[in-house]
Amino acid sequence: PPTVQFDNVVFGYEPERTILHGLSFEVAAGSRVAIVGPSGAGKSTIGRLLFRFYDPQGGRILIAGQDIARVRQDSLREQIGIVPQDSVLFNDTLGYNIAYGRDGASDEDVLQAAEDAAILPFIRKLPDGFDTEVGERGLKLSGGEKQRVAIARTLLKNPPILLFDEATSALDSRTEQDILSTMQRVSRDRTTLAIAHRLSTIADADEILVLNEGRLEEQGRHTELLQRG
Ligand code: ADP
Ligand code: ADP
Repeated sequence: PPTVQFDNVVFGYEPERTILHGLSFEVAAGSRVAIVGPSGAGKSTIGRLLFRFYDPQGGRILIAGQDIARVRQDSLREQIGIVPQDSVLFNDTLGYNIAYGRDGASDEDVLQAAEDAAILPFIRKLPDGFDTEVGERGLKLSGGEKQRVAIARTLLKNPPILLFDEATSALDSRTEQDILSTMQRVSRDRTTLAIAHRLSTIADADEILVLNEGRLEEQGRHTELLQRG
């Protein structure tokens, strides 16, 4: 997998208000870096810049040493799989939801992705439950199960880079623990950036970056940061 580097990145959505003030960090190939910080710190902005929804006003973002400003948008987005906080699902089969927009994926690939995201046991459920017309109830997907569908859809793209953007923030803590272990498993052998606002959710990260008002306040491993308070 490739490295991801932010090199002195300066960015603001509006000219008079800088959000990221010369941000630099590196995610080594195949490692897992977490970015934590309070709401408004600029965490999600990092993901948006990586996906090139916006371009920085200063500095560079590099994937495998290459400035992403020089990479074609489609090939850039092929490399990055995003798992967002809330994914909107269609009230259709899980297979349909997983494969949506992934033209050319075989049934076998879809099943494999479902297995990797640990959703095979409830593959027959529908996101909003079965039609009341049919008369079946109680098969509605839970929030955690929906997140597994989102993970499977991302895995189907087989991206070398994964971006989890507050992927467990909407879940209760027990569901979160279940999903975290799946996330950890699927991020093995991929370069991973996990954005979160709770330190507990990213204990397994190789490195944690603490972002505050667009600046790196601290960085280190989970235990080091806890010792420092
Ligand atoms: P975090 O993910 O850490 O909560 P964000 O990256 O979403 O923070 O936002 C950082 C700052 O940028 C916040 O002050 C937010 O209000 C501002 N911001 C985010 N999106 C936009 C936008 N589209 N236009 C203007 N300001 C924005
Ligand atoms: P695609 O569906 O184009 O193959 P993805 O499945 O990676 O690509 O993402 C689906 C689309 O959803 C992206 O193109 C992007 O526009 C949007 N998207 C996904 N995650 C986020 C996010 N965290 N923030 C903003 N937009 C997102």
